[in-house]
Amino acid sequence: MKKEKLFSGILAVAGFLAISSLIISACHRFPVEFWVYGVVSSLLIVLNILILLAWVAFGEWGLWIFVFLSSVLTLIVSLGTNTNITTMANTTLNGSNNTGMAMTYRVSTLNINIQIFIFFAVGLFVTIFKNGMVSYVLSIGRQIDTLEEEKNALVAEHSSIKGTNDALKEKVIRYAALKDVTGKLSSTLSLDSVATIVIDSVSELVERVDVSNLFLVDDEAHELALKAARGKEGTVSVKSKKGDIFDIWVLKQRQPLLVSDTDKDFRFNIDLIPQELRRDFKSVIAAPLISQKKVIGILRVESREPGAYVSDDLRLLATISDLAATALENAKLYHRIEELAITDGLTGLYCNRYFKERLDEDISKTVRLKQPLSLLMFDIDGFKGYNDKYGHIAGDIVLKSVGGLVKGSLGAGDLAARYGGEEFVVILPGKGTADAQRLAEVIRKKIETEKFILRQVETHVTISIGCTTMPGTSTVSKDDLIKSADAALYEAKKSGGNRVCLS
Ligand code: GH3
Ligand code: MG
Ligand code: MG
Repeated sequence: MKKEKLFSGILAVAGFLAISSLIISACHRFPVEFWVYGVVSSLLIVLNILILLAWVAFGEWGLWIFVFLSSVLTLIVSLGTNTNITTMANTTLNGSNNTGMAMTYRVSTLNINIQIFIFFAVGLFVTIFKNGMVSYVLSIGRQIDTLEEEKNALVAEHSSIKGTNDALKEKVIRYAALKDVTGKLSSTLSLDSVATIVIDSVSELVERVDVSNLFLVDDEAHELALKAARGKEGTVSVKSKKGDIFDIWVLKQRQPLLVSDTDKDFRFNIDLIPQELRRDFKSVIAAPLISQKKVIGILRVESREPGAYVSDDLRLLATISDLAATALENAKLYHRIEELAITDGLTGLYCNRYFKERLDEDISKTVRLKQPLSLLMFDIDGFKGYNDKYGHIAGDIVLKSVGGLVKGSLGAGDLAARYGGEEFVVILPGKGTADAQRLAEVIRKKIETEKFILRQVETHVTISIGCTTMPGTSTVSKDDLIKSADAALYEAKKSGGNRVCLS
């Protein structure tokens, strides 16, 4: 028991004993005098304090017992004093008004009884409350707690199901979008279209993209070459056209790359990127385009914000890269087959059919642009004799070399083709007679001076060239142009060969 409780208990018991003995002895003083009545009443009031002390010290049982004892004591006092006071009033004051005073005393005593009754009621309530209500309330509290826990568990489960549901919805949307991309990619065999579809799809499907790039591996130069780029608002200029440290990493590691913050990633030293090639980005994801175990390109997106991408974004990018790799490989193969179909197998120049198609197109284009167009036609001099002397295979080697020399002499937009046998044609869009004649001379001289070593014997061939020009002021048909060049060639042959003739 605590000190205060012990003290309260002793005080309550001692006080009660003292008060009761005082009251009882006072009540034995008959007839009761007014001052005795006053003292008794005050002592009875002190009982209330003692009841409180008992409550504190012994709990509700103490309260109960003290209330009971106080009630008994008060009842005794009340009955005893009332009789005596009435008697006293009648005998001492001898007047009817005194009866009123006696009544007042009785009421005061009753007031004390009422106070005791209130304590009684409070004690009863506390007992019931403690023994019955509290356990009931506690059990309800426990039930509420259980329900609260169940509710929390359900809320957590709901939010987890909702999360899964949202993730699944997101996946369904992404798969539908990927299906759409696959459909678009399979609908084209053009390398440029494939690149555009890939770059547009990446910008639309991956979130938080500021710039997306598609690099392809240049097999001849053995380096990356930017094929397509897109910014938030469409096309964007990318300075590092051969890729930067991040693209090179993907190319070498053959693995997807996720960089959350370019400043903090220990794998990359951003200072290695030349100042003039730097772009403002913090997050990068990139994936290799692999076809037949060979990296054929890099697909990459970047954001100015750090931490813009998560592994899900990288997975999506890798999936698009796989689709892109297949589509690009198909487009390349198709392009290659197309090239083969229009290329002469021996010389590597275009074939006659393609030459005629292009001549038609170039005539229309130059006429539209009001520009001249020249056509060269040449034939190897005395090639029959060369074949006879050195053999057909040697002749083939010469044809191949001549084809290479011609091709190497041309500028962008010019086109060389094997017209047939040992005859060649060159289309020179935009070039007038003087330019064409100059170029024809260059080619003629190159071939004249070229050494063909056959069975350790140095041989030479010469060519005759017919040159014709369409002025661009009037349309000339393809056949007429060819006829004209052929006529000039005939003229060159007639004049002894190894020369350029105009018509
Ligand atoms: P010219 O100076 O008048 O042109 O005399 P030429 O002997 O060259 O006569 P022409 O142009 O008529 O000769 C064509 C020869 O070219 C016939 C053939 O032996 C040779 N030739 C044509 N196609 C090929 C080929 O694919 N390979 C080889 N090795 N020779 C070919
Ligand atoms: Mg010929
Ligand atoms: Mg010939």
